[in-house]
Amino acid sequence: MDISKIRVALDGPSGAGKSTVAKILAEKMGYVYVDTGALYRTVGLYAMENGVAKDDERGIIALLESIDVRLTYENGEQHVLLCGCDVGGKIRTPEASMYASAVSKIPEVRAYLLDLQKKIAEKGGVVMDGRDIGTVIMPDAEIKVFMTATPEERARRRLKELIEKGENVTFDEVLADMIQRDKNDSERAAAPLKPADDAVMFINDGYDAEGSADYIIDLIRKKTNTQ
Ligand code: C5P
Repeated sequence: MDISKIRVALDGPSGAGKSTVAKILAEKMGYVYVDTGALYRTVGLYAMENGVAKDDERGIIALLESIDVRLTYENGEQHVLLCGCDVGGKIRTPEASMYASAVSKIPEVRAYLLDLQKKIAEKGGVVMDGRDIGTVIMPDAEIKVFMTATPEERARRRLKELIEKGENVTFDEVLADMIQRDKNDSERAAAPLKPADDAVMFINDGYDAEGSADYIIDLIRKKTNTQ
């Protein structure tokens, strides 16, 4: 098995550290890192900017006619283009997070984003993070990891990130938002958050990002007999 073509499906709830771990992993292994949450956030942002309420399913589905979402990579870094413009940090606000969670429940939105994700996955040499990567996007990925941590640990990490970005939020707000999003993600009918049957369960309380990436690299080395 060619180690450079491995596909890593990294799923788990919000704040498990997936994006940080996936970035380190991609860099160490020379893989492309695909942040699929950014795609749902971008659809959410489009709804926000067009004044469509997050519970207005019909309104959001109607927007899919005019939306154009693309991914580009510069020096290994992913950029999401919404109708040609880089969304940058606009998709990272708490409001955009709630919108992302709401739009991701809509099967038409998931269908719209499916091809884009599958095309990138096809090439191999990717680490893709999300909620349904091992179950829907790359059901035949060589490595599937379901990574999680306790809600408090995840809220602590997310709070740190948001504060570093200058957001004015409290721990309790972040924890409540995290629990609400977990609930939305795991209870929705379309592609709910759940581990693939063949995923490795990895609870990473007590691991830092580097340690978590090394844990996954170990799985890759075992799989490819390159230890
Ligand atoms: O990973 P991130 O927190 O950026 O994802 C934002 C939202 O997008 C999640 O709360 C989830 O509802 C949704 N999502 C999804 N499927 C994915 C990735 C993200 O439903 N593969």
